[in-house]
Amino acid sequence: MGRVLIIGAGGVATVAAHKVCQNPDVFTEVMIASRTEKKCIVLAEILNRKYGTNVKTAQVDADSVEQLVRLLGSYKPDIVMNLALPYQDLTIMEACLQTGCNYLDTANYEPKDEAHFEYSWQWAYRERFEKAGLCAILGCGFDPGVTSIFTAYADKHHFDEIHYLDIVDCNAGNHHKAFATNFNPEINIREITQKGLYWEDGKYIETEPMEIHKPLTYPGIGPKESYLLHHEEIESLVINFPTIKRARFWMTFGQQYLTYLDVIQNIGMSRIDEVEYEAPLVSPQGKMTTAKVKIVPLQFLKAVLPNPQDLGQNYDGETSIGCRIRGLRNGQEHTYYIYNNCSHQAAYEETGMQGVSYTTGVPAMIGAMMFLTGLWNKPGVHNVEEFDPDPFMDQLNKQGLPWHEIHDGDLEL
Ligand code: NDP
Repeated sequence: MGRVLIIGAGGVATVAAHKVCQNPDVFTEVMIASRTEKKCIVLAEILNRKYGTNVKTAQVDADSVEQLVRLLGSYKPDIVMNLALPYQDLTIMEACLQTGCNYLDTANYEPKDEAHFEYSWQWAYRERFEKAGLCAILGCGFDPGVTSIFTAYADKHHFDEIHYLDIVDCNAGNHHKAFATNFNPEINIREITQKGLYWEDGKYIETEPMEIHKPLTYPGIGPKESYLLHHEEIESLVINFPTIKRARFWMTFGQQYLTYLDVIQNIGMSRIDEVEYEAPLVSPQGKMTTAKVKIVPLQFLKAVLPNPQDLGQNYDGETSIGCRIRGLRNGQEHTYYIYNNCSHQAAYEETGMQGVSYTTGVPAMIGAMMFLTGLWNKPGVHNVEEFDPDPFMDQLNKQGLPWHEIHDGDLEL
């Protein structure tokens, strides 16, 4: 039915690639391309052995529009799944436009030199995608992604007006490392050290990082301290569902994680500006010497932290992510909680990756499937909640992320 190009070969891309290969009737041809082709080759070998597929690989620096245009122009994918980093969103979108390819990602654009994310940079491509008759699907992971689709589903089936939306993200897993992040450490630490932000009565309210927190009870897990964070889906959801009076995002963190994070910040290791470092060097004559080099502390930290892709084997426990919604139906106030719980071990057994990569890679594959089967295909640049949620929700149940509903329970919020 369609040819797909996956860019990136990290945790999320690995899960998405497994899922793509599990659906050969939809994804008839597959290529994985990334900065380090070796990782793509190792992954392709695993996939081809396990599923009898013929996954191809390529090397690409996705920061270079020129290299991307060359690759996309020769492979001619129907859709490009951008599962590299948010830094590459704009270059990949640009290359898609130049070569007539459709586009999907899981995280909105962030400039490398500023820890700041918002949709405006990608929404600026709307007219060009529309005119080219191409579709760009933004934010198709779990959060953003499934949480936005849960909201669209609630709006379609359970509410006349959504008034209060709280997205709740709990990771109750244990990877048995002193400190590690569950997805790319650089992106993760940039996200959670930012100021908090939420939407109330038509405007954004800023908080200090981690200032607002409270225990919330997660199904099958119990109470966990949950912290209000700024998260990207809030920006599009309050536009696409204008009856929303308040929208917030909560994430759980353990005390040990927060203590480490505090230290990382206090000693300057979360800095994203360049610092000079006296690095050891071997001179052309073979003598040991030193030279001043510029390094970004957070990128250096990433190099010494555990790789999120290697956490799976000893990871136990589960994630629980969902939407707690209050609003009106037939003039009556109603509450609704929709969520998925995902086991780290089950994810590892199926794909070799932990649950956070799994909960992101599966929806990315379903989004591409929605596009290739013609269920989600409209020219322009769209956030996932702008499409019909029903066929996507149906696939979540079939592809390993079943969801559950609680009507008129206590939302605690
Ligand atoms: P990883 O760091 O594990 O993988 C990133 C991959 O991108 C690596 O293979 C890396 O290559 C590759 N890459 C980086 N820069 C380039 C480049 N210039 N050109 C080509 N390839 C490049 O990250 P994750 O898999 O954990 O995360 C992937 C994406 O998913 C991120 O954007 C993240 O923000 C997003 N995400 C979204 C979530 C959601 O729910 N919506 C949740 C979790 C993550 P190399 O191997 O050479 O380093």
